[in-house]
Amino acid sequence: MHYWNNEGGMALVTRRALAGAAAAALCAALAGCGGSDAGVPTGATATLAILETTDLHFNVRSYDYFKLAEDKSYGFERTATLVRAARKEFANTLLVDNGDTIQGTALADYEAVVKTIPCTQQLSMYKAMGALGFDAGTLGNHEFNYGLPFLNQVLGGGLEVDGVDASQKCAGAGFPMVLANVYSAKTKKPLVQPYTIVERTLTGKAPDGSEVKAPIKIGVIGFTTPGIMNWDKRYLEGKLTTEGAVESANKYVPELRAKGANVVVALLHGGLDGAAYSPTMENPGLHLSKVAGIDAMVMGHQHGVFPDTAATPSFNLPGVDHKAGTVNGVPAVMASSWGKALGVVQLALRWDGSKWISDKTASKSALRTIQTGKDAAGKAVYVDADPGIAPLVEPQHQAAIQYVKTPIGTTDFRMSTLFADVGDPGAIQVVNQAQQAYVAAYIQASLPQYKDLPVLSVSAPFKSGFQGAADYTDVAVGPLAINNAADLYLYPNTVYAVKVNGADIQNWLEAAAKRFNQIDPAKTTEQALISSFPGYNFDMFTTPDVQYEIDVTQPVGSRIKNLTYLGKAINPAQEFVIATNNYRATSGKSFIDKLDGSGTIWASPDANRDVVIDYIRKHPSITRGANGTAQSWRFAKVKTAGAVVFSSGAGALSVAQAAGLKNVSLLAADDGTGKGTSKYAIDLSQ
Ligand code: MN
Ligand code: MG
Repeated sequence: MHYWNNEGGMALVTRRALAGAAAAALCAALAGCGGSDAGVPTGATATLAILETTDLHFNVRSYDYFKLAEDKSYGFERTATLVRAARKEFANTLLVDNGDTIQGTALADYEAVVKTIPCTQQLSMYKAMGALGFDAGTLGNHEFNYGLPFLNQVLGGGLEVDGVDASQKCAGAGFPMVLANVYSAKTKKPLVQPYTIVERTLTGKAPDGSEVKAPIKIGVIGFTTPGIMNWDKRYLEGKLTTEGAVESANKYVPELRAKGANVVVALLHGGLDGAAYSPTMENPGLHLSKVAGIDAMVMGHQHGVFPDTAATPSFNLPGVDHKAGTVNGVPAVMASSWGKALGVVQLALRWDGSKWISDKTASKSALRTIQTGKDAAGKAVYVDADPGIAPLVEPQHQAAIQYVKTPIGTTDFRMSTLFADVGDPGAIQVVNQAQQAYVAAYIQASLPQYKDLPVLSVSAPFKSGFQGAADYTDVAVGPLAINNAADLYLYPNTVYAVKVNGADIQNWLEAAAKRFNQIDPAKTTEQALISSFPGYNFDMFTTPDVQYEIDVTQPVGSRIKNLTYLGKAINPAQEFVIATNNYRATSGKSFIDKLDGSGTIWASPDANRDVVIDYIRKHPSITRGANGTAQSWRFAKVKTAGAVVFSSGAGALSVAQAAGLKNVSLLAADDGTGKGTSKYAIDLSQ
């Protein structure tokens, strides 16, 4: 007979994390509880399901505030459904959040900056999380984006740093926040508690198959990216110091064990990187996993997935085992971002006669995604939203929608990609200007070793008609609102900077020029200009500093002619920094080798879209002259016997003319593709 079995109501009481004092009081009333064997036979087993959300980025709802439309592919209201299902499935669960929680949507900006949420009110993200009851969380780099006074407020007070009223008592997150590697410069103590101990009673099985219940102390410790000191320098310099995750773990994990933690769960707001350890490294998961005393690790920050069931998994590094779901033998997860997945570590525990101890080799981990499959038509199917979440944030959600419709500037020209394939830089130049300015400023401030290199930027017409006449960036003359940034920059990429040389630039542009078919000038019949190479890969410069011609009569690889920088033939050996996006910088090996991640000198934490918004805020009058005419490239002149044709939006010739493209003409109002587009010709001899 097992004592805890017979306690009616006990399971209910202990289902959630109990405050230490309350647990002790209960234990005092119950003989045999709290550390003694409670009659549990040696060899009894239990499973603790550690449930991870990470990089939620304030996506409470499955809603795109840029497109002003529902998007079921992400959102905590759907992750919540996965959490509830896991709690039904597993007798013992621990729900943790791994940071990058309070920044990332228009709703986040609204509550932080536009109409700062009052001290008495919880952030909408934390309020929604409160419906589920989180046990602990850590702070990501983005928690620092709005400064320390705001962080102090939303965490409920207590941050003992310069410029902050630590005595302020506010609504708070609603769950304990732990962070071991960030210190207050004023007190030399951790900014928030480095760890917490969650006390639980686990339900398990005796060797004879009967149910057992016995208490456990779960240590939870957190680590974030030391890069916060660069990324939010203006807020943090002189106020905080950071330490490497391994150094902090070596300091606090033994302390946590000494305080009675039976197992230790590390919340790492960081991921995996094969580089040698350094205390400032961004993604030290491989190294942290080797610190003795860590039983499980949840990761994030990279917005990646681990374990990865793809045929060619990410994080292909020594020590990383996607099949077992372990990193150097430690069960681990990284649950994507924006609530797209829930990480589940099934930590196996064994009763050693006096306490629960982990059995890492019997543990396993997996991700559960909100996408459950595809329907008969091939459309993605997602779990239903938890109906309890949306009503909690409805008034704030509506206020954020009004906010994104608010103008931040104006444009005096129609910014479109309708003719980007034939030379109109009108919707791309502002993206390049924003990326260039952002990377150049960061290099001057934080990467002095590159400060003498020219900084250039490339971007592409992400929306270029693939899905029909509506699939073009097309921003009307007049006010520019925040939600227009989604049209100017389609993808939720982040800005990356890569170091290349002049020869690399030539090769990069050669790859981008695959956008065009090879044109035979002698052919008298019509030839289609655009190949099947996607528009989002047609990287281009839009600056007078870089000039080149694309000779479409030549085969792929020999098309870029007369490439110049500042009016002179580019020096193949000269080094440049190019601003681009995470996608191109890490998976652009088919462009040039250095775009496999090895050329990256800075993986910024900021979305290209947010960088564009910031640029427009600083330059609120967008004009054709300043932001829409810098054509870096043109087609090499050639006389063709027949017409060279392409499709674009219906009846849009005036857009080409306004962009100064005098060599474009309308051939047919209906191009016959059934996509609602028109057929145009381009005279390559002009
Ligand atoms: Mn993140
Ligand atoms: Mg992060």
